[in-house]
Amino acid sequence: MKRFKFVLNEKEMPTSWYNILADLPEPLPPPLHPGTGKPIGPDDLAPLFPMALIKQEMSTERYIEIPEEVQDIYRIWRPTTLHRAWRLEKALDTPAKIYYKYEGTSPPGSHKPNTAVAQAYYNKKEGINRITTETGAGQWGSALSFAGACFGLEIKVYMVKISYMQKPYRRVMMETWGGNCIPSPSPDTQAGRDMLAKDPDCPGSLGLAISEAVEEAVGRDDTHYSLGSVLNHVLLHQTIIGLETKKVMEQIDEYPDIIIGCVGGGSNFAGLFLPFVKDKIEGRKPDLKIINVEPASCPTLTRGPYGYDYGDVAGLTPLMKMFTLGHGFIPPPVHAGGLRYHGMAPIICHLLKLGLVEARAEHQLGTFEAGVTFARNEGIISAPETNHAIRATIDEALKCKESGESKTILLGHSGHGHVDMAAYEAYFAGKLKDYNYPQEKIEEALKDLPKV
Ligand SMILES: *Cc1c(COP(=O)(O)O)cnc(C)c1O
Repeated sequence: MKRFKFVLNEKEMPTSWYNILADLPEPLPPPLHPGTGKPIGPDDLAPLFPMALIKQEMSTERYIEIPEEVQDIYRIWRPTTLHRAWRLEKALDTPAKIYYKYEGTSPPGSHKPNTAVAQAYYNKKEGINRITTETGAGQWGSALSFAGACFGLEIKVYMVKISYMQKPYRRVMMETWGGNCIPSPSPDTQAGRDMLAKDPDCPGSLGLAISEAVEEAVGRDDTHYSLGSVLNHVLLHQTIIGLETKKVMEQIDEYPDIIIGCVGGGSNFAGLFLPFVKDKIEGRKPDLKIINVEPASCPTLTRGPYGYDYGDVAGLTPLMKMFTLGHGFIPPPVHAGGLRYHGMAPIICHLLKLGLVEARAEHQLGTFEAGVTFARNEGIISAPETNHAIRATIDEALKCKESGESKTILLGHSGHGHVDMAAYEAYFAGKLKDYNYPQEKIEEALKDLPKV
């Protein structure tokens, strides 16, 4: 009998997260203070984050225990399932074995609550009752609103205006969980008012929404800020994905040759691959291939310069060493998916620089085509973000068909696309276009990088 699904039982769910900072062959370049240009300390971050998260951000302890209260909420949907994509393999006529770890069964439909729940917990524990954040496509805002409901926190979400208008259902999800969602740029902050004065029709960007959420959190004692990707502690919380995958693959005596995932800020994919990259660093799996897939319209890892940049438009956040399209980046409105952040998790950038992982960019028409093939074979209608990883997975499986190799491919499936049907509709109607990010803009970004 063929087996299609592999899942740990609840008792086998990992009870610690894995911290890659303990095992990096060279230390991560530190974040710098935006004013002084010196490495930041815990006190610099205290207006924004609870101390427990600041410690995790800087910790080099290899395993960090998941609090019982967080485990109990994880168990609403975790452990998640590892699937064998038999039907997709057959449709592609490939000798490759394709597995995918599916994070779409969480209440908000993606991997994001893995960190949202942990962040809400630590804030609550330190007496904070209110959190601001930003959201692009609305996935993060809904995950944090869900987490706020779990712990009784007030959540205020600045949502990139173009998505606020194009994706009303994510907003209604946030409201159902008790979150308060407003379009960014907004009149509630200086950063928002400045942008509205310059351009009243500004469609917004993640970088700008971050400026608004950070500004409000810094200005109020009862309020902290929360970020859904990029930072070390976010990637740490997401390692539950990779730890579960490794454990269940051990049980069936499998190990991937290739791991593929989509990257916006990098959290879902790092969460999957970090426990595996450890084996590569330690020389046990020197040939393991790890492919970060990003949109060709926001080619941070494949074309951006590597240097220190701000995490937001207004320059309020610490400077992080990363590949970046410049903090002034406004994504092209023709792009239907998420994955539109100008920077990338410093951990992923560092691993790319060290040659431990690689990156690839995909055009959106090809990603939707892949997503439709996946839906017609595996059934799941995937988030447009995830479709980028599916495109690369199908291409790797087709390469195996040509070479006759039976490689084991592990796909990180970050979420379902049920709230993104407008993007699929636009694709079927022929309204989506491919967009190549112009070279002048890359050069502009390089000029805009702060001097450190
Ligand atoms: C937010 C999101 C992403 C991109 O964020 P990462 O931090 O790069 O993981 C990818 N897929 C889905 C479904 C998302 O909601």
